[in-house]
Amino acid sequence: MDHFSLRYGVMHAEDVPLPVIADAVGTPVYVYSRATLERHARVFREALVDVPDKLIAFAVKSNPNLAVLKVLGAQGMGADVVSVGEMRRALAAGITPEMIVFSGVGKTAAEMAAALDAGIGQFNIESEEEGVELAEIAAARGVTAQCTLRINPDVDAGTHDKISTGKADNKFGVPISEAGQIFGKLAGLPGVNLRGVAVHIGSQLADLAPLEAAFLKLGELVGVLRGAGHEVTHVDLGGGLGVPYRVGEVLPQPAEYGAMVARVTKDWGVKLIFEPGRVIAGNAGVLLTRVVRVKRGIKDPFVIVDAAMNDLARPALYGAYHHFEAVEPKGAQMTANIVGPICETGDTFAMGRECDALQAGDLAVFRTAGAYGATMASSYNSRGFVAEVLVDGDKFAVVADRIEAGAIMDAERVPEWLA
Ligand SMILES: *Cc1c(COP(=O)(O)O)cnc(C)c1O
Repeated sequence: MDHFSLRYGVMHAEDVPLPVIADAVGTPVYVYSRATLERHARVFREALVDVPDKLIAFAVKSNPNLAVLKVLGAQGMGADVVSVGEMRRALAAGITPEMIVFSGVGKTAAEMAAALDAGIGQFNIESEEEGVELAEIAAARGVTAQCTLRINPDVDAGTHDKISTGKADNKFGVPISEAGQIFGKLAGLPGVNLRGVAVHIGSQLADLAPLEAAFLKLGELVGVLRGAGHEVTHVDLGGGLGVPYRVGEVLPQPAEYGAMVARVTKDWGVKLIFEPGRVIAGNAGVLLTRVVRVKRGIKDPFVIVDAAMNDLARPALYGAYHHFEAVEPKGAQMTANIVGPICETGDTFAMGRECDALQAGDLAVFRTAGAYGATMASSYNSRGFVAEVLVDGDKFAVVADRIEAGAIMDAERVPEWLA
């Protein structure tokens, strides 16, 4: 459930009519709802009531906006980060270092050092090589890195290939067949306290079965590790829960996920870490856009909006579906191709889409844009970076300025020898 709804024929974010935001900030603009973010955080937390010892770390990569992190931090969430840039955002939003988990296959030595200096709570090591390097860096600083070893369980998450992460040929984690041996090697190194294992098999999962299969394999591995004399006190179950992008789409609810987790892990005797991203932020945001013009087509008309693939990359990148609707629907429908102004055909949000009838100047939204939206924006076609707004009841604030193309050009230099 979210707080974007029609009132008196005008779509509102909580109590704010979207045309008011469009007039004040311009379009395109991402609009987030604080009440929705808080609701999703609460629902996820409540789904895990039967898990006694846990940390819920928001996957910052899904929406790294400082104001969003501030809202979620106040809900008791930690942060799952995949770069020092994300770590700095989590810290700047007031999330305590102990509640920060550092994931990612390519942590550089400088990043590991910075994260150790910040005193973060956990590193999820993705390879033997990374573990050895982290141990050296930590030992040289006279500190101990708290770690889990990320396991690649060889489970097909059944999602889009580009966001599948738990198959044997994906780059993430160590093969489960070698996990015991690598764990043993890393656990003996000074500088690291290898206290458990981690898994994250992919994103936008529409089915709990692959998650359960991965967790069961992980549970078995915990038994094997303990049998080999290792102490296992922490298990990180990652993120991945899908959200509905289509009207009427039914996905596993957080409560079902929580019940499955509680059932599978009840005898593990560990602290569990969760890294939800999309399920918290996805439906807490929309991309508000204005129709530039409607162009006649051979078959369907092209509705050309002022948002483009540089602002919302998911359709171009993954063929993703985003529900599209008018901010002030008049009741009539049309079948249209929804496209942005960018000069490539990849800049297509939908072909032959049945949607509200729209004409030049009308406002519309792409729904479910709060996760993997603004964070993937680029300045392709010198369009600048899209702005972001947070709504809270009847008030709203710009939480990321639009970065105009001119400001990006100002950061470029023409060398003297070209002058
Ligand atoms: C991307 C990612 C997540 C979040 O995934 P969602 O599908 O947004 O919940 C969690 N953990 C890791 C390691 C990730 O890479």
